[in-house]
Amino acid sequence: MTGRRISVAVVGGGITGLVAAYRLRQQLGADAEITIIEAESRFGGKLRTVPLGGGPVDVGAEAFIARRPEVAELIGELGLEEQLVHPAGRQPLIWSGGHLHPLPTRTLMGIPADAQSVAGLVDADTLARIAAEPSEPFEWDDVADIDVATLVAGRFGEQVVRRSVDPLLGGVYSGLSDSIGVRAALPALAAALDSGATSLTAAVCAALPTPSPGPVFGTLRDGYGTLLEALRDAADPRVVMDAPVTGLRRDEGGWWLEPVGHVDGVVLTVPAPNMVRLVAESAPRLAAAARDIELASSAVVALALPRDNATETGIPENSGILVATGESLGAKAFTLSSRKWPHLATRDVALVRASYGRFGDAAVVDAPDADLIAMARADLETVTGVQVEPVDAFVQRWHGGLPQYAPGHLDRVAAIEAAAGEIDGLEVAGAYLHGVGVPACVESATTAATRLAARVAG
Ligand SMILES: Cc1cc2nc3c(=O)[nH]c(=O)nc-3n(C[C@H](O)[C@H](O)[C@H](O)COP(=O)(O)OP(=O)(O)OC[C@H]3O[C@@H](n4cnc5c(N)ncnc54)[C@H](O)[C@@H]3O)c2cc1C
Repeated sequence: MTGRRISVAVVGGGITGLVAAYRLRQQLGADAEITIIEAESRFGGKLRTVPLGGGPVDVGAEAFIARRPEVAELIGELGLEEQLVHPAGRQPLIWSGGHLHPLPTRTLMGIPADAQSVAGLVDADTLARIAAEPSEPFEWDDVADIDVATLVAGRFGEQVVRRSVDPLLGGVYSGLSDSIGVRAALPALAAALDSGATSLTAAVCAALPTPSPGPVFGTLRDGYGTLLEALRDAADPRVVMDAPVTGLRRDEGGWWLEPVGHVDGVVLTVPAPNMVRLVAESAPRLAAAARDIELASSAVVALALPRDNATETGIPENSGILVATGESLGAKAFTLSSRKWPHLATRDVALVRASYGRFGDAAVVDAPDADLIAMARADLETVTGVQVEPVDAFVQRWHGGLPQYAPGHLDRVAAIEAAAGEIDGLEVAGAYLHGVGVPACVESATTAATRLAARVAG
């Protein structure tokens, strides 16, 4: 290496951007100038921890899949091990037909392995149809992609889609299973179907993960804010806040970014539509490849309820309540945070989060705070009977919160990565590529930063 100081930029200060900056620091060393440019006045993007009811509460993502290694490893690297906590191990319920039901067992994102899995949740005709499904002729195109709702409704009927699959799968993407493709959302199922499963039932059985010991989810005791701060400290970046990058073009030896100027290389960690706008002129093939990725908006209403007798006895001993599609309820899900997380159970208040809005149905997201809080209280009363005045509440809107992995998503991602791979000194990363969850974002950021570091230091 020459004595020249390497300068790189990370556009976007969500978890992907912060991890990318941290990895760049690790790989480029203390001398490199690493700039994070963030459009808003805070880091975190869809991760946000706010004070509520006497302590920190996450109002965006509130957990991560602990069976993937990325986040736990990151927590370890940053010396935050004492922050790592796991849920109490309770299951969520499903609100369907005006009643609470146990979560179906033996399903893949709500798609049952047999009729018994969804007994009690769907009617007798549907159960008979699932039981008969293995003997029905089955056709599967091992090249094309279809939406999950079409696949499941065609084999098991609409009730399974609306009462079992939508609440589980839709919760991950903030959409209905109509807008989510099988191949990206359920790769193990697609693989079983591609390798010749003779029915959907057989494919689900083949794709069910083998039960493994250890908790499925984890989180940080004091919220994701702790991880964001530690990442920022470790990355030691130059920070440009409240400054959306508005232009990106090649210049001699690198890239020119409005408003920060020349850098040797850049990682774009902004959501897909923002990335498309940024590269429309300088990398039109990359922009075209990502143009069809849409986002879903939602709102989270976090309630701190008094720990009186009504709350203690009324809130079920479950981690949450997922809502079937078509119910006369505004909320699409509740997280019963104080039941789900032992570290929140010791607070003086009972914490509940209600979620509103989904892909194609986002009007509710812009309702005034007071209306959303009133809706959350009324919906909670409907499903649990608990009618109490919150001691505190927080409304968080997530415009463009989650990318939709529509049918054909894997082809779009392959095209994005092929186009980006041909562009010198520019990398893309984020929730629209290989998974919307925080672990997938961490992995995406690490891959992008490693590629860029090799490029600019080489
Ligand atoms: C309500 C909700 C609940 C969720 N729950 C979970 C969960 O429990 N577990 C889980 O694993 N995942 C969850 N997710 C998903 C996960 O939180 C997100 O996918 C992830 O945080 C996305 O991180 P990111 O950094 O890629 O993108 P973002 O968080 O979107 O960050 C992108 C950043 O780029 C900035 N930006 C945009 N344009 C520009 C520009 N032109 N210039 C500069 N900056 C720009 C934005 O302001 C933002 O800060 C949830 C998501 C939502 C919305």
